[in-house]
Amino acid sequence: MSNAQEKISQLQQQINQYNHEYYVLDQPSVPDAEYDRLMTALIDLETANPTLKTIDSPSQKVGGQALKSFTQVTHQLPMLSLDNVFSLEDFHSFVKRVKDRLNSNEPIVFCAEPKLDGLAVSLRYEQGQLVQAATRGDGSVGENITTNIRTIKSIPLKLMGTPGKDFPEIVEVRGEVFMPKASFDALNVLAKKRGEKGFANPRNAAAGSLRQLDSKITAKRNLAFYAYSLGFVGESASQGAESTDLTHEFFANSHHERLCQLKNLGLPMCPEVRLLENEGAGDAFYQGILDKRSALSYEIDGTVFKVDNIVLQKRLGFVARAPRWAIAYKFPAEEELTCVEDVEFQVGRTGAITPVARLKPIFVGGVTVSNATLHNQDEINRLGLMVNDTVVIRRAGDVIPQIVSVVVGKRPDNARDIIFPTTCPVCDSAVVKLEGEAILRCTAGLFCAAQRKEAIKHFSSRKAHDVDGLGDKLVEQLVDEELINTPVDLFKLTEIQVSMMERMGKKSATNLIAGLEAAKTTTLAKFIYGLGIREVGEATAANLANHFYTLAAIESASLEALKNVSDVGEIVAKNIVNFFKEEHNLTVVSGLSAVMNWPTIEIKSAEDLPLAEQIFVLTGTLTQMGRAEAKTALQSLGAKVAGSVSKNTDFVVAGDKAGSKLTKAQDLGISVLTEDGLVALLAEHGVTI
Ligand code: NAD
Repeated sequence: MSNAQEKISQLQQQINQYNHEYYVLDQPSVPDAEYDRLMTALIDLETANPTLKTIDSPSQKVGGQALKSFTQVTHQLPMLSLDNVFSLEDFHSFVKRVKDRLNSNEPIVFCAEPKLDGLAVSLRYEQGQLVQAATRGDGSVGENITTNIRTIKSIPLKLMGTPGKDFPEIVEVRGEVFMPKASFDALNVLAKKRGEKGFANPRNAAAGSLRQLDSKITAKRNLAFYAYSLGFVGESASQGAESTDLTHEFFANSHHERLCQLKNLGLPMCPEVRLLENEGAGDAFYQGILDKRSALSYEIDGTVFKVDNIVLQKRLGFVARAPRWAIAYKFPAEEELTCVEDVEFQVGRTGAITPVARLKPIFVGGVTVSNATLHNQDEINRLGLMVNDTVVIRRAGDVIPQIVSVVVGKRPDNARDIIFPTTCPVCDSAVVKLEGEAILRCTAGLFCAAQRKEAIKHFSSRKAHDVDGLGDKLVEQLVDEELINTPVDLFKLTEIQVSMMERMGKKSATNLIAGLEAAKTTTLAKFIYGLGIREVGEATAANLANHFYTLAAIESASLEALKNVSDVGEIVAKNIVNFFKEEHNLTVVSGLSAVMNWPTIEIKSAEDLPLAEQIFVLTGTLTQMGRAEAKTALQSLGAKVAGSVSKNTDFVVAGDKAGSKLTKAQDLGISVLTEDGLVALLAEHGVTI
């Protein structure tokens, strides 16, 4: 076998295996980017060696295969895939190929659509009734999934209008079945609770849910559908495929108009679809959809551009697995493969020991990622991760990168178990795992250098005392040089000491001392927050200050008294009591209160608080703060936070993927705040998140 032949055969074998995992098992083991790379390599080799290209090569076929457990449906018109491009340059090359083939230099009108990440289905309506639904399968033969499709609420069982008058006797509609992000998240939360594996992404979840032998399971999965083209259209089943050709008695000669016609027949059409006057508008459409991507309620992985004119589509025709008149212009990958080179353990402010994977740097989701938190032992067990494993890393939008899965098939011989430390990796003190907690903690408190550093960083952080000129690196150096042990020592620093530190000159030392001087004037709420008591966030600190008015009252408050504070429960109350029991904490508190000062809090009754009597409802995902944090912050200003929307609600705060509560609020005419609106409202009353 020649070298090229061997390489081609290896690639074909690997791609066939990935196709099986993806299309048959609905459980891919590698990210799409890796698959796409292999496919490109195969196509390049086959193009360079045309004699080695066989008709059974995966490059020549539509990927799937109909499962034998379903009855099979032979598509009257094949269901094809789409060719891909990943850059504007390649998109322009596609447009050029189209123009060359049409022998024309006229601008091309495109129908531009999001590339929905689900699976293609064909719905057959006879006399306006849905009689059959099939998956794409291998493009010629798909699976009969009619019973399951009938459970999808947005798919009409009957078309609107009269057969023969408003639409032909037979209409095949093609489109994508997909799982909205919210349903996917809910499904995976449930799977996790039951100890099941869950689905890798909404595409696989949609496919797995639709290809169920029990349609009751499909019905529970909350699938959705958008139509994106016509299949066979005719007056009788005996008619050949030709009846769909060219201009049609019922259907327009424009792809975009056809979609609008389908919409009028009752089929859902994606609201983002646009008709572009020429190819020049392609990039702006692509960028616009990319910007909107995280806000859409469903997953997409690119945009699709289709020559709008059906006559031109016919002239352009098809190649083996895709039409020549359409292209998928895909988004950069949000999932990639990389290697876990090591796992290190970080000690946080509260002593929590967190395993962090050191990754071979990888460009994913627009940034280079070299670390990912592994949270705790449970997460490592769930992933089945070992050092030196190849992993799928995901970074979507602004969400922190996470390891999604391990590619067990790529595990090397030198893979080794991840061993948790038995003593603190920084100070060597004992570690404990508290009951009910998944994490290990160092028991040394402020005697541990890592916790000291984190405590001082927290004290000087933006939301606490916002010490100008005191960065994390400087804190680490000052602790390592034993110039500071607690926040109190910050105020004893001299300009000379500071200017001796790395990368510090006289000017930056003067600035830091001035920054520390300014930080001495604060508020009681910030002072409490800056102490870094476990689970006492900014809003809880504000609640404590507003409730007790003085530091002395908070220090001496009993467990019961603390539990009377809005949003303080048993655990937080215990943390506060325990904090003020520790001798070294009391030394720090008295040292700080000797140099810092804050205005006396005016004693206000609850009614005087700025949001007194206002009822808020929080819905959707908040990205800048946790739901609990938002609730506490609102309560600290006197607001009530309710669980459901009623006519008494004053404001609904709608985060990402807000659903029925938002709709209800709109129906009742209740004011809706975005997350930014909430942040601004809180800031107006002195609470920063
Ligand atoms: P594709 O998903 O890249 O493109 C074709 C499909 O796009 C159509 O069949 C249709 O289902 C869908 N689509 C979404 N929106 C559309 C729209 N507006 N108009 C028309 N079609 C639209 O191609 P494919 O053949 O289904 O799958 C190949 C891709 O699947 C690969 O590029 C890879 O990303 C992924 N894949 C991954 C693995 C893996 O192991 N990770 C394995 C196989 C395939």
